[in-house]
Amino acid sequence: AKEQLTTMVKICCIGAGYVGGPTMAVIALKCPSINVAVVDISVPRITAWNSETLPIYEPGLDEVVKKCRGKNLFFSNEVEKNVAEADIVFVSVNTPTKTSGLGAGKAADLTYWESAARMIADVSKSSKIVVEKSTVPVKTAEAIEKILTHNNKGIEFQILSNPEFLAEGTAITDLFNPDRVLIGGREETPGGLKAIQTLKDVYAHWVPEERILCTNLWSAELSKLAANAFLAQRISSVNSMSALCEATGANVSQVSYAVGKDSRIGPKFLNASVGFGGSCFQKDILNLVYICECNGLPEVANYWKQVIKINDYQKVRFVNRLVTSMFNTISGKKIAILGFSFKKDTGDTRETPAIDVCRGLLSDRAQLIIYDPKVPKAQMMKDLSTPKFEWDQPGSTVPVAEDSITKNVTVVHSAYEATKDSHAICILTEWDEFKSLDYQKIYDNMPKPAYVFDGRNVVDVTKLRQIGFIVYSIGKPLDP
Ligand code: NAD
Repeated sequence: AKEQLTTMVKICCIGAGYVGGPTMAVIALKCPSINVAVVDISVPRITAWNSETLPIYEPGLDEVVKKCRGKNLFFSNEVEKNVAEADIVFVSVNTPTKTSGLGAGKAADLTYWESAARMIADVSKSSKIVVEKSTVPVKTAEAIEKILTHNNKGIEFQILSNPEFLAEGTAITDLFNPDRVLIGGREETPGGLKAIQTLKDVYAHWVPEERILCTNLWSAELSKLAANAFLAQRISSVNSMSALCEATGANVSQVSYAVGKDSRIGPKFLNASVGFGGSCFQKDILNLVYICECNGLPEVANYWKQVIKINDYQKVRFVNRLVTSMFNTISGKKIAILGFSFKKDTGDTRETPAIDVCRGLLSDRAQLIIYDPKVPKAQMMKDLSTPKFEWDQPGSTVPVAEDSITKNVTVVHSAYEATKDSHAICILTEWDEFKSLDYQKIYDNMPKPAYVFDGRNVVDVTKLRQIGFIVYSIGKPLDP
């Protein structure tokens, strides 16, 4: 019965980004009888999806796309045509933070979502299931429903919330083997129940039934915001402890290990670092803060705000530590930046802590030599030149002169090139290759004293100190 149902299904996904692309590629791979079209308004993005060099880097993604592309997986700029033909329309467009007007700095900007919904209403001639794949504020489905039904009175739309929990860098394994798939819908109506069942049938091709959770719409929408808030909170919790470790002589790795052994807490996601990044954590928490404020819950809003404040503080603390360790002046000194993406195994730089750290160092007139295995130079220069958006005070930015960026930033192709003649090494992404560098060779090619500021706790502190480096590693006892 499942096969019969799914042979009829045509899927279209609006938004060929970090979520839409990999998610749909995996659905196409696991459901050969389903036709999947991924559409986007961006011509370069679609061109790249149809080329040998995909627009995003994810381990395993190339293989999945190559297996299905041209068979049952298609990437296209023909948005309206593909939407009109589909039975299920996933919407996976970006939902960034509003930068001006009411709710600026916190509320989700639903411009892209609204225009996608209006387009769906305009072009639809047959009934459709519309799936919220993007992360949206709780209650968005209500607004979407209004837009769809008011603008196309002849057609039945069923709205489902199916938030995505994949993590960049492990997207394909996360999609193959998800902890859970969450489907929120109107279980109380026959149409709603049928829509839930249709989407369940798609995932049931490879996801065990007990991992497919069905809830009401608002629980599904809120669960995604809550999950990201909890994850980010764990990082801010351990980072807050890292500051205390440095002040007291405790070692944050030992503290994390001891704390994580408690089965109620668990060991994952307890690594101290220079701070979390990525397009989601900050934006989703800010969104949660805004929703709390709008619902008259300022104390709850303040609780979650603190998670971001600690994250900002961690980056400032890191820069300050570097500057004070180097005799309070880094003007004209070369600093090798190892890693720019927000975490390893992705080329994504959205909200990467590297931007804030580099801008902090540039404002103290350092010269930066940056190396990242996956981030192109143009992306780094663009990120560094974009004034930082201060969520707490929209409109204000950390001043970094434009010409200081072009003059004082060099991008190179290896860690050895970056570190040669540098006064300090700053590790900002935990790429595996930074663990196994020949640090003796690097030390020999640096002026002395030679410093390592490890923002990801990847280096062997004892070994590096034996070589002669002065090492600062987040949350670890300082040099004796
Ligand atoms: P993205 O910016 O990489 O991709 C969004 C795409 O949507 C862009 O290519 C854009 O051109 C396209 N788009 C926007 N409006 C459109 C329209 N009207 N018609 C057609 N295409 C349109 O974003 P992303 O990282 O894939 O995130 C998408 C959503 O998924 C966001 O809500 C995000 O919060 C959520 N999410 C992201 C992740 C992640 O790790 N990146 C994980 C889970 C959830």
